[in-house]
Amino acid sequence: MKVLVTGGAGFIGSHVAEAAVDAGHRVMVVDDLSTGSTDNVPLQADFHPVDIRNREALRELVLHFEPDAISHHAAQASVSRSVREPRLDADVNVLGSVNVLEVALECGSRLIFASTGGALYGEVEEGEAAGEDRPPQPLSPYACSKASFELYLRAFGASSGLRATVLRYANVYGPRQDSQGESGVVAIFLDRLLQGAPIQVNAREDVGDPGCVRDYVYVRDAVRANLAAFDGALDGRTVNIATGVGTSTRALAEELVKLVDEPAIVTDGPHREGDLKRSVLDPAVMVSILGEPTPLRRGLVATTEWFRSQVGAS
Ligand code: NAD
Repeated sequence: MKVLVTGGAGFIGSHVAEAAVDAGHRVMVVDDLSTGSTDNVPLQADFHPVDIRNREALRELVLHFEPDAISHHAAQASVSRSVREPRLDADVNVLGSVNVLEVALECGSRLIFASTGGALYGEVEEGEAAGEDRPPQPLSPYACSKASFELYLRAFGASSGLRATVLRYANVYGPRQDSQGESGVVAIFLDRLLQGAPIQVNAREDVGDPGCVRDYVYVRDAVRANLAAFDGALDGRTVNIATGVGTSTRALAEELVKLVDEPAIVTDGPHREGDLKRSVLDPAVMVSILGEPTPLRRGLVATTEWFRSQVGAS
């Protein structure tokens, strides 16, 4: 099979590209390297430094390759940047994605879209987990752009027979996640803990606040979903990629401090403006198709090992 991974030099996309290579597929990666790195791209993949907003360059490449499946991960992936630069966010995540959609239609490729469950559903009440049928409540430009491209896929699925899958990722963590960004708290905490630097939980312990609650899903589970989608097992489906387990930032920090097993300083900070208090997704559909997600502790152990292996590596 021939697979195109957009954003394949980034965190999740590079894992998808690597797994596709391992599965024996021919892999092309398109990425403008705005946040990704060629270090992440598997050597066996054919890499092209192209911006998905460059319609003609993208079209020429993809028509030549004629992929059976396109795993679309290229995006402006930062919620806070989308608030600062909503036009840029819409430009990449809507118009760039429409370019990808057009070439998928032209080539008759399956299209797998990396959407967000973490941002799309808005606040999820204590005791609840958002299922795929919960109406989207986008509270950021990023969530708006992801939700709107989901609508394009639905419209083209109905009118043009596009075979599309929407994967709504919760908070994905794992090896290669960028630790220098504003999100990706597992990577940020691990990077700092391994350097002996303090980590900050944006909550006040003195009033018993554990911080934001998130559904942390291991990158391997996102990869498994992509591989299943390449084979058509998820055609026409929208699937949460999640664990259904809520973990507070403080509980995550405590777990990582234990795993790193070095002296650590954990400070309190102010709640970050615009952060959802609680986001937990229902993984029942995913579990019925792909089996159980990776338990948090197991994923964190593997991620810690990887970050440890990087200390002083570059
Ligand atoms: P990432 O920033 O590591 O990966 C995005 C990749 O897209 C980068 O390599 C970047 O260089 C590339 N890119 C950005 N703009 C581009 C453009 N105009 N043309 C070509 N390439 C471009 O982020 P990630 O965490 O790996 O996220 C991958 C996808 O998954 C994104 O679509 C993101 O919105 C989605 N997602 C991620 C999470 C998460 O927890 N990390 C959660 C939900 C959804």
